[in-house]
Amino acid sequence: MSARASDFRSDTVTRPSPAMLQAMTRAELGDDVLDGDPTVGALERAAAEWLGKEGALYVPSGTMANQLAIGAWTRPGDEFVAERSAHVVQWEAGAAAALHGVQAQTLVAPDGRLALADLARALRMDSIHCPRTKLLCVEQTFMGDGDGPGGRVVPLAHLEGLTALARAHGLSVHMDGARLPNAAVAAGLPAARFAACADSVMFSLSKGLGAPVGALVAGPADFLARARVLRKRFGGWMRQAGVIAGAGLYGLRHNLARLAEDHALARAVAETCARHEGLVAWPGEIESNIVMVRVERPGWTPERLTEALGAHGVLTMPMSAASVRFVTHLDLGPPDVERLAKALAAVLG
Ligand SMILES: *Cc1c(COP(=O)(O)O)cnc(C)c1O
Repeated sequence: MSARASDFRSDTVTRPSPAMLQAMTRAELGDDVLDGDPTVGALERAAAEWLGKEGALYVPSGTMANQLAIGAWTRPGDEFVAERSAHVVQWEAGAAAALHGVQAQTLVAPDGRLALADLARALRMDSIHCPRTKLLCVEQTFMGDGDGPGGRVVPLAHLEGLTALARAHGLSVHMDGARLPNAAVAAGLPAARFAACADSVMFSLSKGLGAPVGALVAGPADFLARARVLRKRFGGWMRQAGVIAGAGLYGLRHNLARLAEDHALARAVAETCARHEGLVAWPGEIESNIVMVRVERPGWTPERLTEALGAHGVLTMPMSAASVRFVTHLDLGPPDVERLAKALAAVLG
């Protein structure tokens, strides 16, 4: 057993590779608040081009990117529509309410594909009594709540249908594309095709692309002007940020196509888990790099399984009362899945 743990907890745990570190130390720098950091500028242009958007803003985290978008598209008292377990609803500490004074109307779609009929029903009357429903948030890939396969790719045609309905009723569409790079690779489509279904798009540099920090939010110029003010208010402006933006630029250029390896590895993880009675892992339905495993074995809980695997150097994370999450990334490979197989055999017999 190697000293290094096999860390399946998240695709955020990766360390910058030597080549990425070199890109960071060689990045051309400036004061991004005063007159611009050239590496941040290059990253923002590359991201905007990749997404087919007018421009992009570099921010410290995906959460900030999402919140800039929600704030830029709404006013206090407005409402946004999202799936009930979407990151913007479940994992951002109530930020939309706390920071922007907007409420969420949540719909249920365990595979992330909001039904057109549900969205149609969610649109409220134009009345002094009602909040203004101003924004639809879609998540790509959709992580899910652990009760079914995770990391689902919402099909392009489905997104196009949702967007058409939302726009016809005057809603803007924001795509939480933290793992849009994974979706694009999994679907074999340019990211810009998915991004065209949204007015603003965020994606993470610190997940599959392997950078230590950072996210981008892209959209039209008037949106970006509003988002820029919010970034200032949140203290999200950074100075010689090219040091970290250089890592993001490297990730976007070099770590995109290889995401297919993470997806193949995720399928291997699901197959490995599914061999054990009482572990439900949906091996035929793994589309990207997230594997949810429901623990149905008598006497076992997600916490107990996580602890037992941890003792064998395999790290994972309880994701709900019923499930454990495995995420593959560029610091994992087939030997880590072999280690998982051995650990599961030792723990469950
Ligand atoms: C990780 C994630 C975010 C937030 O990104 P952070 O950089 O952790 O703030 C937002 N949405 C989704 C779907 C994510 O997976």
